[in-house]
Amino acid sequence: MKKYDYLIVGAGLFGAVFAYEANKRGKSCLVIDKRDHIAGNIYCENIEGINVHKYGAHIFHTSNKEVWNYVNQFAEFNNYINSPVASYKDELYNLPFNMNTFSKMWNIKTPKEAKEIIEKQKASLNIGEPKNLEEQALSLVGTDIYEKLIKGYTEKQWGRDCTELPSFIIKRLPLRFIYDNNYFNDRYQGIPIGGYTAIVEKMLEGCDVKLNTDYFRFIQDNPDVAAKTVYTGMIDEYFDFKLGHLEYRTVRFETEILDEENYQGNAVVNYTDREVPYTRIIEHKHFEFGTQPKTVISKEYSSEWKPGIEPYYPINDEKNGSLFEQYRALADKEENVIFGGRLGNYKYYDMDKVIEAALECVEKEL
Ligand code: FAD
Ligand code: UDP
Repeated sequence: MKKYDYLIVGAGLFGAVFAYEANKRGKSCLVIDKRDHIAGNIYCENIEGINVHKYGAHIFHTSNKEVWNYVNQFAEFNNYINSPVASYKDELYNLPFNMNTFSKMWNIKTPKEAKEIIEKQKASLNIGEPKNLEEQALSLVGTDIYEKLIKGYTEKQWGRDCTELPSFIIKRLPLRFIYDNNYFNDRYQGIPIGGYTAIVEKMLEGCDVKLNTDYFRFIQDNPDVAAKTVYTGMIDEYFDFKLGHLEYRTVRFETEILDEENYQGNAVVNYTDREVPYTRIIEHKHFEFGTQPKTVISKEYSSEWKPGIEPYYPINDEKNGSLFEQYRALADKEENVIFGGRLGNYKYYDMDKVIEAALECVEKEL
């Protein structure tokens, strides 16, 4: 087999950005992926003319102008603004937590009224510096919103009590005292017209790509295939789990094609009560303002990861954090291997952060 400058393990966003930049600088790259398609978790499949986000809803958002300009080289983005709706029993609320949510919850109109209610609910709890997600959420939005919109959803999503989860998870969501349902605070937002897979396809032009190829088998047969490796799989798997398993959450999607034009009137509806077994329903066409006669929906179920299924979310709590640090110490000693991406760095990265990290890595390396 030809000898390459880089073997890139994983045709997801991190691997693809690295491959594109390396190729641009005259380096030869072989990109392998164990799946039967490129693009990792941002892969879209066309069903009934609709780009279906196979591994979960992906909305591109960033405050980094460089990253925004960078990704716009590969696609034009539409003007989609994510505004999920939360369904709690028979009540509907706007997300993120903003004046529309407060007004519906408490039948009030002004920011002053909303703040007074939250302050009153908080005062009775006596929370100092929040030590976990529950305390963080209660001190931000009070008991009503915590009980109806956060507790059930978070415990379904993470399979853990809110007191066992780090507070940063809830700080991802904006809290606003204006009537504004934009889920993100970022300056730039949208969905690539034509879907995400086409972006990765463009990034990988000029590189050799081998699908259905697992690194661990491939490297046994081809130990000298490249001078260096960029590895974006699970860091603990790379070391054969020798220090123990890092924990992940996984998600499972039940996707249905429905013979109707518009099922739920919004791309994302979160089900925040414990009784409904799924966390959210995605209606994919609304990401691109689709007018197809049919619609495709995916119910998202969250569960603990087990070997053999796809890992999705790293669980960035203390226990896993310290195990990851031990793996990272091993990774630092690994000559000629760069660990990157969501699984290689065991980080709850959004796409813009993955691009940032890959570009930083290129800067250092090349
Ligand atoms: P991946 O996309 O996971 O790519 C890694 C690739 O490596 C995979 O294709 C895998 O098959 C391959 N691989 C692993 N091990 C091996 C091996 N041994 N041999 C060969 N190949 C291997 N971000 C946002 O910005 N906005 C969102 O709205 C958003 N929504 C999300 C929703 C969900 C449900 C999830 C899970 C994530 C979401 N993200 C979102 C985050 C986003 O998916 C990631 O930031 C991004 O896809 C990570 O890219 P990556 O290349 O690091 O990883
Ligand atoms: N969250 C919640 N209720 C919701 C939506 C989100 O409590 O209706 C919490 C939950 O803990 C989740 C976190 O906010 O893990 C971050 O939400 P986000 O939508 O960013 O999660 P992701 O899109 O990464 O799954």
